[in-house]
Amino acid sequence: MKRVRILVFNAALGVLDYRVPEGMAIEFGSVVVAPLGPRQVLGIVWEPQRLNTQEVPESKLRPLLEVMPVPPLPERLRRLIEWTADYYCASLSSVARMALGSMAALRGGGTTTEYRLTGQEPARLTPQRAAALDALQGEQASIKELAELASVSDGVLRGMVGAGLLEPVVVDLDRPYARARPEHAQPMLSDGQQEAADIFVEAVRADAFAPFLLDGVTGSGKTETYFEAVAEALRRGRQILVLLPEIALTENFLRRFEHRFGVPPILWHSSLKSSERRRAWRAIVAGEAQVVVGARSALFLPYARLGLIVVDEAHEVSFKQDDGVRYNARDVAVMRAKFEGIPVVLASATPALESMQLAEAGVYRKVDLPSRFGGAQLPDIQILDLRQEPPERGKWLAPRLVEEMKARLARGEQSLLFLNRRGYAPLTLCRHCGYRFQCPNCTAWLVEHRFSQRLACHHCGHEVPVPAACPECGTGDCLVACGPGVERIADEVAEILPEARVALVTSDTMNTAEAVGEFVAKAEGKAIDVIVGTQLVTKGYHFPDLTLVGVVDADLGLEGGDLRAAERTYQQVAQVAGRAGRGEKPGEVLIQTRHPEASVISALAAGDRDAFYAAETEARRDAGAPPFGRWAAIIVSSEDQSEAKAAARAIGGTAPNHPDMLVLGPAPAPLSLLRGRHRFRLLINARRSAELQKTLREWLEPLQFPRGVRVNIDIDPYSFV
Ligand code: ADP
Ligand code: ZN
Repeated sequence: MKRVRILVFNAALGVLDYRVPEGMAIEFGSVVVAPLGPRQVLGIVWEPQRLNTQEVPESKLRPLLEVMPVPPLPERLRRLIEWTADYYCASLSSVARMALGSMAALRGGGTTTEYRLTGQEPARLTPQRAAALDALQGEQASIKELAELASVSDGVLRGMVGAGLLEPVVVDLDRPYARARPEHAQPMLSDGQQEAADIFVEAVRADAFAPFLLDGVTGSGKTETYFEAVAEALRRGRQILVLLPEIALTENFLRRFEHRFGVPPILWHSSLKSSERRRAWRAIVAGEAQVVVGARSALFLPYARLGLIVVDEAHEVSFKQDDGVRYNARDVAVMRAKFEGIPVVLASATPALESMQLAEAGVYRKVDLPSRFGGAQLPDIQILDLRQEPPERGKWLAPRLVEEMKARLARGEQSLLFLNRRGYAPLTLCRHCGYRFQCPNCTAWLVEHRFSQRLACHHCGHEVPVPAACPECGTGDCLVACGPGVERIADEVAEILPEARVALVTSDTMNTAEAVGEFVAKAEGKAIDVIVGTQLVTKGYHFPDLTLVGVVDADLGLEGGDLRAAERTYQQVAQVAGRAGRGEKPGEVLIQTRHPEASVISALAAGDRDAFYAAETEARRDAGAPPFGRWAAIIVSSEDQSEAKAAARAIGGTAPNHPDMLVLGPAPAPLSLLRGRHRFRLLINARRSAELQKTLREWLEPLQFPRGVRVNIDIDPYSFV
């Protein structure tokens, strides 16, 4: 190649042409450094005909500076990147960026220095050093990362190095990972599991694109089953990617994986420390990382020999990314498998309607695990009508639920209360003047957190201490909490069952792997009687002595009027119900509701999943909603409200008159102020036959907006705020 076109990691610059200097070996996919004015930019060499820009005359071309010492991005990954950018109306460079690790990973090789405590016990300590000693037990990382962990300055830690409290450790960045052993601890599968496992193993052997929907009830052993496919891919020297919806779930997964394969898998997520990120990325690219477990960002990495993808809890909404490139990792995983020519397994006890539909249409092969492993029965689900059996005034748990919890405690069994709301109370107001605490940056109330004694915005993170007096009228001691959050439920439990040991499980309390590990160990060791949690407790856990699940407010999710509200409620309640009765003792579920007649609630109570899917399918068909029609959102935002409004109007005013597309809005978004930006939305409802993305591009590309205005396109949106 004499001249090349490269994709640079800056959407504004996009695509640039360069000359290849004599002797530099370049292929499509090579990662290169190029000069740009006085600066240097990183880019990927791309097929020029696939990037439409104007040809730059030969005489103006500047030479590339360097090729990075990493294998070129494979063609099948380049095609996936193009597909993703095209489908989600995102820039190629923003998608391509997700394939690369850090700059350091690209340079590779060598060593880095990390620090750890020496174990010395000094006689006297400054408070900062004492705090650092406390926070850094068992940690090893760079000074910068340790400083963040301990919330002290780099200087404090450097001082501790000088004083012999911290010592340097030289870390080999390319040290190999221990090998997973496919035969380490093979389980005895049940007949049903074996049948399913055989299908997956066969698909791994066939080494061709094959999408599966593994539809197994909670506790059926989906993990054990797809582990057999993982084992087969390992035997064949292929790499495996397992996507999990949230990192809080991985702790549990890691333990099971290690038990099955003898070593932990390789993790990929946003909070990896830099040396681990670098090491993992290089092992992935070299084909040496065997099994990678990650959040959705692991999907775009340049695996050298990918042989299998598993998306666990595939129905989870957190697979949909809601900023940057707004992609759905579940759907892109299937596309990646297609480009790679490999099997992909979507596993869930409550598959998304879209996935069910694709299985019904024969696009996905459905593999069922209809019963629980080891003969455990699915729990008995009952409705608790709050209008008939109300809780006491100022309380949230109805008498029948309380009685059942008392009975569990007396028998030494565990209960779980689920409420998908963090904090103590979702709204705080002044009894005297009615003042309500609102976030200054968002259209949202501040949520009281009693543990931290703060009022916090769950959208932007804005926080203030709970004041002693009302900021509006100045009256002291007049603030009232309205409505329950999990912290308030935990208080109520402490009041009714003072002897019970209560664990609170929310993202505020389970924010480290250690915290999760400690919780699991305690729950398994029966050192916890009652678990109170948000959606974090709905999946993944297996506590054999947990025999009662109480859903504190099943109506909560139905209020938003969101397209998927019923489906989400169904999934959450079915998942949390699935935590009960997983061992030998049968489980019972009480669903507190004011709308027992709602079709999702009655389907849950009847255990009639088919009825739920049938009703939901009809509702979606009537609304032209996915999978029958498609939605897209255009979100226009600016710090200046009138600017945002004008831009949204300009977009609305030029909406194409398309017979297969209906444009709604612009209207202020339900969250009309978010992180200080004013937001307006347009919603597009299109028939499947409409060329939605093409129409959107042709509509929006010619429009010009002031600099402060952002226009985001969300294809197949999950969030309607
Ligand atoms: P699911 O993910 O389908 O809800 P899990 O994979 O969590 O179910 O399995 C439920 C429990 O049963 C787990 O504790 C798992 O280890 C156990 N289990 C499932 N299958 C087997 C098996 N074949 N042998 C031993 N234990 C199993
Ligand atoms: Zn806010």
